[in-house]
Amino acid sequence: MKIAITGTPGVGKTTIAKLLAKEFNMKYINLNDLAKKLNAYIGYDKIMKSKIVDMKKLYKEVKKIRGDFILDGHFSHDFDVDLVIVLRCRPDILEKRLKKRYPGNRLKVKENVDAEILGVITSEVLQRKKRFFEIDVSNKKKKEIIQEIKQRMKNKKKENIIDWIEKGYEIKI
Ligand code: ADP
Ligand code: MG
Repeated sequence: MKIAITGTPGVGKTTIAKLLAKEFNMKYINLNDLAKKLNAYIGYDKIMKSKIVDMKKLYKEVKKIRGDFILDGHFSHDFDVDLVIVLRCRPDILEKRLKKRYPGNRLKVKENVDAEILGVITSEVLQRKKRFFEIDVSNKKKKEIIQEIKQRMKNKKKENIIDWIEKGYEIKI
């Protein structure tokens, strides 16, 4: 099985994807590392201070990988996978993490927190029409999150999409 672990930057994809790969004895592939290794970039976003990934090059490379694997990245849901797992994190918790990760880049923090509030990744995933579910990782230990993922993979019942706006979070202007 090919699994994509996606979500807003900072939600815990790398942490959880690595643990899950170990648990399932699957290959772990970090798409940011792969892009770096292949120098798969088509440009640079000066405002966001981030490189723009050459998706075509990455698609080709991932296609070559045989067997089961876990793809880690906030665009992993764009790849050919059997299951997409979207990690969701309470915006206030995410904001604290992102401030630590990007000190002095308030724009990056805000853009990512806003994306989480709006559920940008989930709406992208919904458009892809692949099998998927969301996991709320807020205030949960890594072990708990892994257990929850295993549970959800077993019982295929549909659950509501997480909506932070409904829970009172707002985009600050
Ligand atoms: P991503 O790959 O989605 O950007 P990371 O896995 O790098 O996220 O995690 C972002 C930060 O949050 C890291 O400092 C990590 O140690 C921390 N973290 C991840 N999962 C949890 C968790 N369940 N509880 C507390 N902190 C976590
Ligand atoms: Mg990561």
